[in-house]
Amino acid sequence: MQKEKVIVIGSGPAGLTAALYTARASLNPLVISGNQLGGQISITNEVENYPGFPEGSSGPELVELMQKQAERFGARVLIDEVTEVDFREGSPFHIKTHGDEFEANAVIVTVGASPNRLGIPGEDEFIGRGVSFCATCDGFFFRDKDVLVVGGGDSAIEEALFLTRFVNRVRVIHRRDELRAGETLKQRAFKNDKIDFVWDSVLEEIRGDGKVESALVRNVKNDEIISMETDGVFIFIGHLPNSSFFEGQLALDENGYLITDDRMMTGVPGVFAAGEIQDSVYRQITTSVGQGAAAGMMAERWLEELE
Ligand code: NAP
Repeated sequence: MQKEKVIVIGSGPAGLTAALYTARASLNPLVISGNQLGGQISITNEVENYPGFPEGSSGPELVELMQKQAERFGARVLIDEVTEVDFREGSPFHIKTHGDEFEANAVIVTVGASPNRLGIPGEDEFIGRGVSFCATCDGFFFRDKDVLVVGGGDSAIEEALFLTRFVNRVRVIHRRDELRAGETLKQRAFKNDKIDFVWDSVLEEIRGDGKVESALVRNVKNDEIISMETDGVFIFIGHLPNSSFFEGQLALDENGYLITDDRMMTGVPGVFAAGEIQDSVYRQITTSVGQGAAAGMMAERWLEELE
């Protein structure tokens, strides 16, 4: 059993920043990476809204820099996945990975959320080459292009509206003939000349040669399938926080996000959470970094008080 002062579960921007802050507080944190070092940004081609990088950066480059910076102050990154946690007895907490077993005085959970996927051919293949789950991140690259937006909730409509700043035309593909989005967003979208709606329809396949060129769209009422030419497909069919692992141990809200107080602490004293696992609103690298810093600072204070 390896004993640690702080374990950070997850290695996205929130996790690596929590590691940086706790490392600088001489807590020698251990980061357990999860199955994707860097989390969602490691599959983001270009990041142009992260301050300090006027020419933009790639997601993997940002991850590497964040990791190096945390390691410089004593953080260690373990490439492994957590398989079991036991927070029930309080601190020290028990954590198992595929290869090891740990005891930690404080834990910072930063395991993020994953955008729901359609599960259709072409979706995974064209991520970063026309398929996107983030208009704020990628909208800029579609200036004067035609794009499809899939979904009918607040996210889909809000992002469709955002995309109209850049693109020539947005077609919203929704599986029903009524939007789930709130009234204000709905009315703004209906009034926007650049947005058209394709009702009662679902995407069957995304096609292209190296990048997205078209999509097969099926009308669910008459099963008619048409091919639509498009430069991009933005998919907003909800997010799933990666929290199922913590069910029964940490309090979750009705959408599965971890509940934290204003000091980033979950209901279990000594277990903190930061980033998209507890933030259903902002979901930005910048905000996750801020939340990671806050969780790191609060973990340090909590450990200090414990001593
Ligand atoms: P959501 O409300 O769950 O909406 C998901 C949308 O995707 C729904 O229209 C749903 O269709 C559709 N969908 C789900 N699975 C699908 C599939 N397999 N194929 C095709 N379509 C599918 O998710 P969200 O829009 O991300 O919002 C999440 C939460 O955040 C909500 O509570 C929302 O109010 C909130 N939010 C608020 C704001 C804001 O207030 N400005 C902005 C963003 C999000 P159906 O409608 O047929 O179920």
